[in-house]
Amino acid sequence: MDDVNASVVSRPHSSAADPADPVGPSAAADVPAVLAQAIDLARAAVCEVADPASVGEHLGMVAEDEWAASHRFAAHLPGYRGWEWNVVVAGCPGAGSATISEFALLPGRGALLAPPWVPWEDRIDAGDLSPGDILPPKEHDERLVPGSVEADVPDVEDIATGLGLGRKQVLSVEGRAAAAERWLTSDFGPDSRMAKAAPGACHDCGFYLPIAGPLGHSFGVCGNEYSADGHVVHARFGCGAHSDSALPTGAGSPLYQPYDDGILDVDA
Ligand code: SF4
Repeated sequence: MDDVNASVVSRPHSSAADPADPVGPSAAADVPAVLAQAIDLARAAVCEVADPASVGEHLGMVAEDEWAASHRFAAHLPGYRGWEWNVVVAGCPGAGSATISEFALLPGRGALLAPPWVPWEDRIDAGDLSPGDILPPKEHDERLVPGSVEADVPDVEDIATGLGLGRKQVLSVEGRAAAAERWLTSDFGPDSRMAKAAPGACHDCGFYLPIAGPLGHSFGVCGNEYSADGHVVHARFGCGAHSDSALPTGAGSPLYQPYDDGILDVDA
């Protein structure tokens, strides 16, 4: 039996950040001899396209399936510490020699890798938008639906859409719920410190401008330049600048008669 005689050593890691898998999937298997003996063939394949000095010692072999195996070589390349050349050799049953299927530079154990890529729409945060920046909504943004699908007043929206009027998209139920949640828990929500210490709530304040639409029953905009001017406030938010607030009696300094020192004659 000379066709099965090579034991597998270890496989390069698909991710260097995977310490829970120190050895790899095919930790022990037998490989046809024609594949196990193809070390020089595998090395020569890499040397054909890469600097031979970059192909280091043979690190082991991994069975891919019954007709294919990968030979691993240390890679000596600037900036690729811990990476390995991985050469896949193949041979059908009874073949007298192996052939090269493919090879690649792969990260080995401890290889330095870039962090996982994060799409820009997941990286961007509230407050990142600067003047001149363009920030289109995500494709299939769940916060939006076509304007004709979810209208505040369906009959009016149908007519407006038919006439080519109105907005192309409006907030979806999810988008409205998310906005309401943000506003509810913001500094202008009913549980904020300001609201808890306020003498009155926004909903009966003269500076409160209710907003239209489905969120109008809970939110409005403050129109008081000395308070939350221009911010969306919850109807149960409130502040000391409430239009009905009054100074507590006894507050401030006592009232004195003005003293005019211009009427005094000064004798030198
Ligand atoms: S002045 Fe104060 S109470 Fe009145 S709407 Fe603005 S935040 Fe609300």
